[in-house]
Amino acid sequence: MSITSLFATQVYRSALRARAVQALNAQLLREIRQLRLDDAAGRRWSARNYPGGFTSYASASRLHRLSPTFAALERHLAPHLRAFCRVLELDLEGRELAMTDCWASIMPRGVAHGLHLHPLSSISGTYYVQVPKGAAGLKFEDPRLPLLMAAPPRRAGSREANRPWVIVEARAGQVVLFESWLRHEVPANPARGERVSVSFNYSWF
Ligand code: FE
Repeated sequence: MSITSLFATQVYRSALRARAVQALNAQLLREIRQLRLDDAAGRRWSARNYPGGFTSYASASRLHRLSPTFAALERHLAPHLRAFCRVLELDLEGRELAMTDCWASIMPRGVAHGLHLHPLSSISGTYYVQVPKGAAGLKFEDPRLPLLMAAPPRRAGSREANRPWVIVEARAGQVVLFESWLRHEVPANPARGERVSVSFNYSWF
């Protein structure tokens, strides 16, 4: 008997290979907290769309162009992006995937980010700057879920590859990359401290 795995959904995880991850994270954290103070448009948008938290998604979404610290993060992410493209065996036809958006998010206790995907992008991801113990991870949904009609549920403890939802743990200094069509959410953060992350999109078009 043989089993063939088809149409795999691949998620990339790695620690940043930066020598100075702690210094980079400390500086990112300072700038993101300052941004929350300075970015009135972002605070207004977050009050309506990201209750209890702060995100610069709709106000300062090209931080890699505004801040040398975020530009350094972009450089540190580049080899991970290339590695993921190799795993996916993407044929980029000689073109590079370019970082089009880069924004910061702060999630205090109880803040959630509902199910969504990243339209108009090719690869998306998140880099974790500060993750309090027990903070929420990143929950991915099986993209075939709308097609599962009479599918029985999966056993408790089944392999991740067989589950309809998988939560990838958030860890400071780690990057998670996925194809932008993959739906995901951040469940309500149960941890006392602030969960701070930087998210980004890469586009081929
Ligand atoms: Fe997202």
